[in-house]
Amino acid sequence: MTDDEQKPASYEDLRANFKIDVPEYYNFGFDVIDTWAKKDRNKLAMVWVDQKGNEKKYTFFDLMRLSNQAVNMCIKYGIKKGDRVMLMLPRTPEWWIFTIALIKVGAVYCPATTMLTPKDLKYRIQAADIRMIVTMAEYAEKVEEVQEDCPSLLVKLMTDGTRDGWVSYPVELDYPAPCSHKLVNLPGMHRTRSTDPLLIFFTSGTTGEPKMVIHDHSYPLGHIVTARIWHDLHPNDLHLTISDTGWGKSAWGKLFGQWIIGSCIFVYDIRGRFHATEILPLLERYGVTTFCCPPTIYRMLILADLDKFDLADLRHCCSAGEPLNPEVIRAWQEGTGRTIYEGYGQTETVLCIGTFPGMKCKPGSMGRPAPGWDIELHDDEGRPVAAGEEGRIAIRANPRPVGLFRGYLNNEEETRRVFQNGFYYTGDKAYMDEDGYFWFIGRDDDVIKSSGYRIGPFEVESALMEHPSVQEAAVIGSPDVIRGLVVKAFIVLKPGYRASESLIKDIQRHVKKVTAPYKYPREIEFMESLPKTISGKIKRHELRELEMERFMNNNSH
Ligand code: ATP
Ligand code: MG
Repeated sequence: MTDDEQKPASYEDLRANFKIDVPEYYNFGFDVIDTWAKKDRNKLAMVWVDQKGNEKKYTFFDLMRLSNQAVNMCIKYGIKKGDRVMLMLPRTPEWWIFTIALIKVGAVYCPATTMLTPKDLKYRIQAADIRMIVTMAEYAEKVEEVQEDCPSLLVKLMTDGTRDGWVSYPVELDYPAPCSHKLVNLPGMHRTRSTDPLLIFFTSGTTGEPKMVIHDHSYPLGHIVTARIWHDLHPNDLHLTISDTGWGKSAWGKLFGQWIIGSCIFVYDIRGRFHATEILPLLERYGVTTFCCPPTIYRMLILADLDKFDLADLRHCCSAGEPLNPEVIRAWQEGTGRTIYEGYGQTETVLCIGTFPGMKCKPGSMGRPAPGWDIELHDDEGRPVAAGEEGRIAIRANPRPVGLFRGYLNNEEETRRVFQNGFYYTGDKAYMDEDGYFWFIGRDDDVIKSSGYRIGPFEVESALMEHPSVQEAAVIGSPDVIRGLVVKAFIVLKPGYRASESLIKDIQRHVKKVTAPYKYPREIEFMESLPKTISGKIKRHELRELEMERFMNNNSH
């Protein structure tokens, strides 16, 4: 029997037997990319496609040689172990080439989305003390605009074109002589300890200013859980995760775990306008076998005629990043015949709670703690709560699970706040059922306290999503003179539905029917779209602020 045909292990087996060994020295560039390249010169690592249909393919051997060239360039321009380098690139192959190169150098790389404004960019370069930036010609002006306020930034490299004051990747590759594929001047570089810093991520900024998360060189190993167990990846798979290169999610689904296992990643280079449904013909044409995207994309995909596509090769689908409404799982299942395996984690972690193959899915539940992760639910005093009760998600940090971050950069206060009594508190609330499954309630700040009840927005949003008119919903507590807070829903309607008083009544009746009646939204407001982060997460705190502002205005005279 081949590896691919093996039956998935039971959850209990995985918990008992799955273990990741972390060696003292580890470097993803040398120990994974170069190791594959030497073992199998023709092994495919990446299939890249852009929105115009251009296609490129890279083997591990290609990536070894290309990243070695990039290492030589970085060293030539004075970048050394420990230096911070920002990568602000779209899903162009150079993002992978420079990521691997910087890991080999031992530099600390910092991915950033190309959608940043000059103000965001300045904040990030200053906060992370960035020495070099790697970007494309079209973003050069944005960098130059803030350059004066960023004295740490000494080297600017563009992966296309040439410009005064910039190192040009194409020029460096060829002039005055072809850049060597061999590593020159790499004094003991590969000796990165697994405890050395590897990267700095910015969190999504859903609850406020993004935080800077430091991971060390053992972090890629933690993603074996994400890729091998949760994505169910085997060497013969072609995996697509939809994520901007600026988010932690790229490390989850477009890099570490996938390549450690030796599967191939599929990249769809999205620039500018994008309709989620563009993905469907690609899944069919390239025979993508495993797929992961956030709920916001699934919510758009289920609006398409899914049965028009032949998704026979698609074996396994996952979702993470936000709670996934059971209604979306049902519609995806109906359209594709595949269920969606939910996963929970953060920029600060790898996958730490999930539904895994070989385990029963309970739609609406995030699943159970991943192998290697000890997770409890605590009350405000740090005591475990009973089954069925709301608690704060607490990850045992001692011993430290592989893939848990080292701390927030320049923010000891926040680091101390989240690491307490040997646990890391994720800032989310959940309850556990009798079978040990975790059910997401909401972020600490999102839970609504109304008339003596505690209401998790997710449950109400999921109930709303079951109404035929609702495409998306965000539920918050809105200030109210009598009740303190009332449940309010902001709703985006599906195409073809019009806002009306009778529709509001009908939606309210529906929620009262499918959840406990006290949870129904007393107020409903329709919107064209919900406020979201660049990565597509609903910003409930903005809606709360909006409501507070309206309340203050109405009650100020
Ligand atoms: P910030 O910390 O800057 O406010 P963020 O928390 O959204 O942003 P991420 O690290 O990208 O930044 O997201 C992690 C969060 O996403 C989790 O803490 C949780 O609130 C939410 N999340 C992730 N997966 C799930 C899931 N399966 N169900 C519910 N929520 C999830
Ligand atoms: Mg967070």
